[in-house]
Amino acid sequence: MVTFTVVERDPSCRARTGILDLPHGAVRTPQFMPVGTNGTVKAIAHADLEDMGIGLILANTYHLYLRPGVEVIRAAGGLHRFMSWTRNVLTDSGGYQVFSLAPFRKIEPEGVEFRSHIDGARHFLTPEDVVDIQNALGSDVLMTLDVCTPPGIDRDRAIDALRTTSEWARRSKARMSEERSSASGSLFGIVQGNFFKDLRRRSAEEIASLDFPGIAIGGLSVGESFAQFEELLEYTSGFLPPDRPRYLMGVGTPDYLFAAVENGVDLFDCVFPTRIARNGAAFTRRGLVSLKKEARRLEFEPLERSCRCPTCLRYSRAYLRHLYKAKEILAPMLATRHNLHFLNELAREIRLSIQEGRFASFKRQFLSEYSAGEEDGNE
Ligand SMILES: [Zn+2]
Repeated sequence: MVTFTVVERDPSCRARTGILDLPHGAVRTPQFMPVGTNGTVKAIAHADLEDMGIGLILANTYHLYLRPGVEVIRAAGGLHRFMSWTRNVLTDSGGYQVFSLAPFRKIEPEGVEFRSHIDGARHFLTPEDVVDIQNALGSDVLMTLDVCTPPGIDRDRAIDALRTTSEWARRSKARMSEERSSASGSLFGIVQGNFFKDLRRRSAEEIASLDFPGIAIGGLSVGESFAQFEELLEYTSGFLPPDRPRYLMGVGTPDYLFAAVENGVDLFDCVFPTRIARNGAAFTRRGLVSLKKEARRLEFEPLERSCRCPTCLRYSRAYLRHLYKAKEILAPMLATRHNLHFLNELAREIRLSIQEGRFASFKRQFLSEYSAGEEDGNE
């Protein structure tokens, strides 16, 4: 079971620090979770995650259900044993992947029918199945199956998705209660409502009324403008129970991360830091840096002078560029290590700033330096 204790609150906003006690150890919040889609955080070994002090990673139910399949993971004794990870795992419900990856999906009141993006095979999953699958994985934090919708849909479609999400949340909660004796994890509900304020409020209130031990905010950071993201996040978070952990899905860049924490978000995840590492981009305090650029050819200093990660302590920008140019497998490994270290350190500094009551000034100072910088990683 999960228990959550708010430790400090920042006087200027909803930012707080806390301790999330989970079956595989306590996690300090706010906390960034690296994404381990297939039961591995891409291009980094578990020992390195442990060295960094990562206590919680995310794994994707959709991917693991399709491959290697639940029966393999069950036979291994659960996902922790299968992947040899002794700390916590949060699994998503697969809802987002069904909508973003499956070549076909059909929502019915009973559940969702979809075709696998791997082999095209048809599957049908109910919200109860999704709880069962996550319990078979041995997840520490489970998510309810929800209906994700893209920005720009009409109100009627958004209402349909909200109704289904709330109904599935009720059914998921009931299933979790039946399995209480055999399951060690905790089930979080997910707020939807698309980009309509009143629907966001309605969804937040309906999900909050089900008394989940934690709540996720879904359907944001899905292609809308930053201003719209911030407005909806601020509005939605006002209707969430203040004593429950909040998880904002799909957030992993400094500007979004600060906005999340400012609104009382405790957990976030994103593939961004590991994905850009594989594409040759790295976080620095002065913005993203592209490691493939000609400008890096003779830069014999570390990626970031102040960074204490193993990549920066040992290797130069010029060497990293050479590795990318030569398509060496070490290149994404070293950049991934740095990018996760960067976000983990940022979360630690954010916690410290809240503890010392100076979150707002830390945010201002960090983001002004970040946005003034090199910012060439997207090219
Ligand atoms: Zn570094």
